[in-house]
Amino acid sequence: MAARPVPYLDDLNPAQRDAVERMDGPVLMLAGAGTGKTKALTARIVHLLNTGRARPNEILAVTFTNKAAREMKERVGRMLGQSIEGMPWLGTFHSICVKLLRRHAELAGLKSNFTILDTDDQIRLLKQLIRAENIDDKRWPARMLAGIIDDWKNRALTPGKVPVAESGAFNHRGIELYARYQQRLKDLNATDFGDLLLHVVTIFQTHPDVLGQYQRWFRYVLVDEYQDTNIAQYLWLRLLAAGHKNICCVGDDDQSIYGWRGAEVGNILRFEQDFPGAHVVRLEQNYRSTPHILAAASNVIRGNEGRLGKELWTEAEEGEKVRLIGHWDGEEEARWIGEEIESMQRGTRGMRGYDLNEVAILVRASHQMRAFEDRFLTIGLPYRVIGGPRFYERMEIRDAMAYFRQVVSPEDDLAFERIVNTPKRGLGDKAQQTIQAMAREHAVPLVEGARIAVDNGLIKGKGGGALRQLVEDLGRWGRLVNDAGMTHMELAEIVLDESGYTTMWQNDKSPEAPGRLENLKELVKALENFENLQGFLEHVSLVMDNDKQDSDQKISIMTLHAAKGLEFPSVFLPGWEDGLFPSQRSMDESGQKGLEEERRLAYVGITRAEEVCTISFAGNRRVFGQWQSQLPSRFVDELPEDHVEVLTPPGLYGGGYGAAAQTPQPRGGIEERVAKADGYNSPGWKRLQARSGQRGMSQPKESRNTVIDLEAVSSFTLGDRVFHQKFGYGAVVGIEGDKLEIDFDKAGTKKVVARFVSSSDD
Ligand code: ATP
Ligand code: MG
Repeated sequence: MAARPVPYLDDLNPAQRDAVERMDGPVLMLAGAGTGKTKALTARIVHLLNTGRARPNEILAVTFTNKAAREMKERVGRMLGQSIEGMPWLGTFHSICVKLLRRHAELAGLKSNFTILDTDDQIRLLKQLIRAENIDDKRWPARMLAGIIDDWKNRALTPGKVPVAESGAFNHRGIELYARYQQRLKDLNATDFGDLLLHVVTIFQTHPDVLGQYQRWFRYVLVDEYQDTNIAQYLWLRLLAAGHKNICCVGDDDQSIYGWRGAEVGNILRFEQDFPGAHVVRLEQNYRSTPHILAAASNVIRGNEGRLGKELWTEAEEGEKVRLIGHWDGEEEARWIGEEIESMQRGTRGMRGYDLNEVAILVRASHQMRAFEDRFLTIGLPYRVIGGPRFYERMEIRDAMAYFRQVVSPEDDLAFERIVNTPKRGLGDKAQQTIQAMAREHAVPLVEGARIAVDNGLIKGKGGGALRQLVEDLGRWGRLVNDAGMTHMELAEIVLDESGYTTMWQNDKSPEAPGRLENLKELVKALENFENLQGFLEHVSLVMDNDKQDSDQKISIMTLHAAKGLEFPSVFLPGWEDGLFPSQRSMDESGQKGLEEERRLAYVGITRAEEVCTISFAGNRRVFGQWQSQLPSRFVDELPEDHVEVLTPPGLYGGGYGAAAQTPQPRGGIEERVAKADGYNSPGWKRLQARSGQRGMSQPKESRNTVIDLEAVSSFTLGDRVFHQKFGYGAVVGIEGDKLEIDFDKAGTKKVVARFVSSSDD
């Protein structure tokens, strides 16, 4: 086939061209963010096609997400100047492995129509196996085993290959249960996610004929975001490329952010060993970001040890410095960002106007999204959440909301159905049918139907007792709705605590559980912006209705992890506070590993920005209605002074940016106002003030030096005997602000709000 003109090559710099034109043999493109790795990889595919080296179905190209795969296909089409018919092997590791496994299912003991279990199914299956072995699944939960098995699968270890050193896993039963689980999956003609790769790798290892067929078929192998491959993925690539060695991997060790999912940066180093003589291409010119943004990112990542080390430069105009701003709390941060985005649409501070599509908010943890979603809905800024459900659509939030709805409106049958057996109360289908029947017969809401069923002894055993408790609790909580002595935040906490819902997630050992607990805390926090539960519930139904926003122009909200590979002209990076970012978990870990991964995330975040990068933090966050003062992230200190401009928060200096800015008005009583004032005394504020002082900025107009102990002082001391209306007698074993941890004689240890406890001299 005669080569057509090649305009796609003209767009590349010499180093990129080198990576594109050197089609044979192993190539490793190792380069920092925004240097055009993905662009070069795409051009390479075009070049292979254009020069007739391969047909579309002979190229194996791996991207990190399905979205990235779609975009790459489109771009290949555009560069080639014709739509390409099918590149069936351009996709994620998983999507490609599903196809391969369906073709050879019988070699893995499966039929080609096997099903792929989701995490819930996986857990359910493991739980059955654990129970069948008479293992206490409270102490040894299925989710823990799932984590162990996933880890083995990420390392391509079948049960027979798990090293002896790990035989202690899961109380010495891990390997055996893993083997049983694999057998059970086979019996069910099913796989889990981890199996997709594991089975294909195993088939390749044990059937050289099959492997040989694909080695010949895939004439060229290309991999983007190579730094985030795990061992199983690496083995798979190595097997496929072992014959012709036409493999091109692109990556950036500084952007390796999936260590927690088994990714191994070491794969980059291993590449040169496994493919001796690999041609290594280094790209240093960054085409994405301004010099200030690049300098900030480079300075932060410099804090990591053992980097391969890369310099980046750009020809772009200076542009804006990285903007840094501190707020007094998270709500104000969201309010400010909302207003700032509105100003940016019009053009502000000498900058051009930005479309909403050009703006992204990147958060460390998904619970941070709530404040922005609420705020944007209130002021009517369209947004989309990328890579996950929106806050109020999350399972734990819907569960909690169902409790609130049921408490506020006892006739809300949908809510009742959702909560009746969540957490598990031993109420199966039969019990629920009985409740439905009673409700129908007496023409009453389900909760009343449940009461009748219980009163008439229609539901026996443990389930009956638990249901009686639930019905009583719902009645009691319902009466508290109008109790002037209690805020709706306190009521919400009581409902979540006493129903056992919070405990359910506390006992859950899955990797998602901590995130779900964070989201629940965030939900309680959201309540503070409303007068009562009803007002809040109305707000949420409006939020959900707003789903139908049909504007093309939307702000993108996503986690830093989901932002990998993407770019936006204006990026907001909120919540740069120790404990949030870097995460508490990474700070608690011994050693630097966790912290270094967080720092790479910071690097990924900053380098998503093309023109404007705005980093912010809050001096206070509310956690369960309590103020917690926050320190700015250590990464804030790592930003280079010369490339950062500290903006003035409108609330503190009384000024503000135009009419839209307003000083937040605390809705609560005097304590809350005091708490806010004290926020200005937090170490975070002092550091920010020190920084802005260095730049000769004005000091606050009012002095806000009052130091007041925020914590409501409880009148109990450790060891006190107390009585609680629901849990009975017990002893105080812990005090946290207005919450007590009590070891109840009958109910075990629980956290309760101090005001619902009375002293007892029993
Ligand atoms: P990341 O590490 O974040 O994935 P990357 O190295 O993959 O970044 P790309 O996304 O390929 O970088 O490119 C970044 C931006 O630079 C894109 O907008 C791309 O179009 C542009 N770009 C890349 N190479 C060139 C070039 N030679 N000339 C002009 N623009 C380029
Ligand atoms: Mg890329």
